[in-house]
Amino acid sequence: MTTPDTTTATEWQHVATLVAWLDRHNGDGPHETALRPLKLSEETGEVMRAYIGMTGQNPRKGITHTPGDVAAELCDVILSAMTALHRFTDDPEATFTATVRARNERLTALIARESGRCEAAHRDDPTGCEGAQDAVRIIDQHGTETPACVHHGARLYASLDKPLVHTGTVHRAALAVYYRAQSTPPFAWHTERR
Ligand SMILES: [Zn+2]
Repeated sequence: MTTPDTTTATEWQHVATLVAWLDRHNGDGPHETALRPLKLSEETGEVMRAYIGMTGQNPRKGITHTPGDVAAELCDVILSAMTALHRFTDDPEATFTATVRARNERLTALIARESGRCEAAHRDDPTGCEGAQDAVRIIDQHGTETPACVHHGARLYASLDKPLVHTGTVHRAALAVYYRAQSTPPFAWHTERR
């Protein structure tokens, strides 16, 4: 086994080292599997304890914690969840990344609906849509599909690495987006702003 370099260990490297150490000492039976998520509850309790200590809610104790203490306890919750995750998936990092991506897609769609523009419209891009908001579908290198109007579809296409464009509800719109993207700089809204 190689010794991990603690000065440059990433979050996931740290957690992998911790999991290996825990497994060595506690084994990998069903009891241990149950205890890993249970540990999260304990850490969540620590967050609340620090928060209560920060507010001085107990007059007998006064203010015993700082916002920094609460922040550190919250970090422990995150690390405990990352540790427990190892018991339920073979690739915790990939599982986490895929989950964040899925959540982000949902959030992006929600924000787009609120703004009244197509999902391809970048939040920093102030321009309005052009035509149907699902004229095309832009597919990124991970296979994520984004419905788009012709205008924002071309801008998104020009900003992505190895994108694809498929026709949505408007006949031949994919071709229009493809050609328009050829003369569109990546992240066009940045250069227009000032
Ligand atoms: Zn649009």
